[in-house]
Amino acid sequence: MIEKKRIIPRIILILQALLRRLPLHHPKLHMISEELGKRMAGYKGEKALDYTLSFLDPKKYNILHDLRLPRNSHKDSFFQIDTLLITSKFILIIEVKYLAGTAFFDPNFNQLIQTKDGIEQALPDPTVQIKRQESQFINWLSKHGFPNITIYSCVVMSNDRTIIKTSPDNKTLNKIVIHRHSLLEKVKGLEDSMRIESATPKDLKKLIRTLKKQHEEQNPSILERFNIEEKDLLNGVICEACNHRPLVRKHGTWFCLKCKSRNNNAHIQALKDYELLINSKINNTELRKFLVVDSPYVAKRLLQSLHLPTTGIKKGKQYILLFDESRPRKHK
Ligand SMILES: [Zn+2]
Repeated sequence: MIEKKRIIPRIILILQALLRRLPLHHPKLHMISEELGKRMAGYKGEKALDYTLSFLDPKKYNILHDLRLPRNSHKDSFFQIDTLLITSKFILIIEVKYLAGTAFFDPNFNQLIQTKDGIEQALPDPTVQIKRQESQFINWLSKHGFPNITIYSCVVMSNDRTIIKTSPDNKTLNKIVIHRHSLLEKVKGLEDSMRIESATPKDLKKLIRTLKKQHEEQNPSILERFNIEEKDLLNGVICEACNHRPLVRKHGTWFCLKCKSRNNNAHIQALKDYELLINSKINNTELRKFLVVDSPYVAKRLLQSLHLPTTGIKKGKQYILLFDESRPRKHK
């Protein structure tokens, strides 16, 4: 069964929020939408893999998506696994790549050369990446008391139309890199080749619990990376119908001066943007500035209507912008 679901990566939500909140001619817009495009392709590839995995017997296979686990030797350093398939006989680490065109695996220089529309681009070799993940995961397992489980790993090319190539002397590539539609066959092959169960149901339960507990969601500091400051971001509630901003608060609803539409909940997306880009907590003054609302009473009513958890009292009261229960995070 699916023990840890795949959700839209936070970085995608952040990049989308950033595109909404930058002025039309901001010099970084192009770089940001390019990055978003790459991330979306990756996510699309992972979703395609999920479809393939849905054909596996849920009683036999435990699946965990998007794990980010601490590395043993380095404090505050993590390694990531796209998908982990856990059975009583073995664990399979899956790295997903979604590429268009031709993918040439160059074993001599450890690079992946993608050719698309006649343009060549060198990318890090995922077969090297996955070997590194494998050794990090083996370390992690032994540290947490699961030393005897057999580990395999593979790179799944998730776009059915990718042409996979390598040099003629590279005979082992097809053991590591496979197309998405060969994955079920590979899993069955591994299953059949192993006689002995390397973990009891009790071990597996404990392992899955430990993995979920050790997973830590990433909160990438995108503003820093693109060298964008909070003051560069556009304030105000955005009209869902015509993208005009700021909407004005009128008779207990949001009103668009441009297209004249009304919306009761348009502030929720704005506060999600605030959480994604600025801070996970907000007070009355900050809300008024960001939503362009004058009245502290209106701001207070808006905040109270969301039933958010709070910290502090009176002037120090802050509301924790927690909209989605599936993304528990640590708050500063
Ligand atoms: Zn409008």
